[in-house]
Amino acid sequence: MLLRHTPKTLAERSALTINPAKTCQPVGAMYAALGIHRCLPHSHGSQGCCAYHRSALTRHYTEPIMASTSSFTEGTSVFGGQANLLESLNTIFTLYNPDIIAVNTTCLSETIGDDLAQIINKAVTDHKIPPGKTVMYASTPSFKGSHVTGYANMLAAMVQHFAVNTGKRNRALTVLPSFIEPSDMTEIKHILGAMGIAYLMYPDTSNVVNGPMDGTFRMYPQGGATKEQLQESGDSRYALALGPSGTLAAAQLLDTKCKVRTEVLELPIGISATDALVDTLRKTMGVTVPEKLLIERGQLVDVLCDKNQYLYGKKVSLIGDPDILIGLTQFCKDAGMEVLHVVSGTPAGTKFIKRIQEIAGPAVAVKAGPQGDLFYFHQLLQNHTPDLILGNTYCKYIARDMDIPLIRTGFPIYDRVGHSYFPITGYRGGLRLLVKILDAFMDRQDRDAAEEEFELVM
Ligand code: SF4
Repeated sequence: MLLRHTPKTLAERSALTINPAKTCQPVGAMYAALGIHRCLPHSHGSQGCCAYHRSALTRHYTEPIMASTSSFTEGTSVFGGQANLLESLNTIFTLYNPDIIAVNTTCLSETIGDDLAQIINKAVTDHKIPPGKTVMYASTPSFKGSHVTGYANMLAAMVQHFAVNTGKRNRALTVLPSFIEPSDMTEIKHILGAMGIAYLMYPDTSNVVNGPMDGTFRMYPQGGATKEQLQESGDSRYALALGPSGTLAAAQLLDTKCKVRTEVLELPIGISATDALVDTLRKTMGVTVPEKLLIERGQLVDVLCDKNQYLYGKKVSLIGDPDILIGLTQFCKDAGMEVLHVVSGTPAGTKFIKRIQEIAGPAVAVKAGPQGDLFYFHQLLQNHTPDLILGNTYCKYIARDMDIPLIRTGFPIYDRVGHSYFPITGYRGGLRLLVKILDAFMDRQDRDAAEEEFELVM
């Protein structure tokens, strides 16, 4: 009901965010940390923060998300969180026995100015960290950036803490994925495997937040990159970072710290971007493209051609995270659709805006940052109504109010299942996304068709 009061007239805002299209940095940091095997994410702040981070991830993945907290109280807010963190490390290693604890900061610990490097050094000096165990940390102040920034910061911290150049280059490729679903990580590994490439990937949340139900509770699920793999990445022959917003900092660090040749590509969403990935792998790793991938590509092209009449000229509006938005924009353009609006709550800089305009054309309305919120998105839609929205669960209110079909993409998705198990990346993921888009248009056509135009065959 409240949405009906969103004014159609757009006004530039510089400080106010209304109904943000993002969540907080530690959520992304926690998600990244879950992609390391036997790693426990730890939120250095109040219990309420940690409860929120965990619940955001639990609701999206419908899996229990293990994480601990420094449990700040009023006293901690005044005197700092050192005592709490030292006590936490002791308790966690004693009770839960992880191999790695990945500490992220919160708004409160950042505002107090807790120096995590100093606190963790003290923990080492005081023998609070058992032999063979590691405590890593990332600064994730949530009063700036978003969950994508937190993910990027934790990923860079992984490189900082673990990657080592021993001087002996190995044959492996290191892959650093942006904030994507575990199903998408699996799909990228499927492409690498099909091409016969030796690789290591981190973080890797497949089989961690989408593991099978087998009746056994595992505090640390079977998936995730190992500590040894993180270390070996410093000796990789080559590294590929997929999605600049989530991976650029880590890729640059791997390059400068370990002298690994790195390249940053866009996420392989749709034909063009997946072709770019496959072609880069072919050239840099000296392999050929197998028949299996050509068939997958051909199937996607086949459906695109068969059903192009349902896609061509359709108007679409997108909201979400920058790396996924670039991929989705390219996907929609490749399918002959017109992209009207692209909005992100994550500050992504002018490069992102230029890239979207390059793909979608100069007429596209694009905004990224705190004012790229759902209120603004709703205003844009009122001025130029699309045929389809691609965005997360929070878009459902706008979609219902304006009677526009919504396909859930990105993070978070709280009201549908499947995203953790079925990808949108690669050729197979592209086919799934295409089918979802076609279903939305065909369902709408059936719903609105006059009786004499209600067709059996479409
Ligand atoms: S206080 Fe900051 S870190 Fe904690 S939940 Fe809120 S935005 Fe996130």
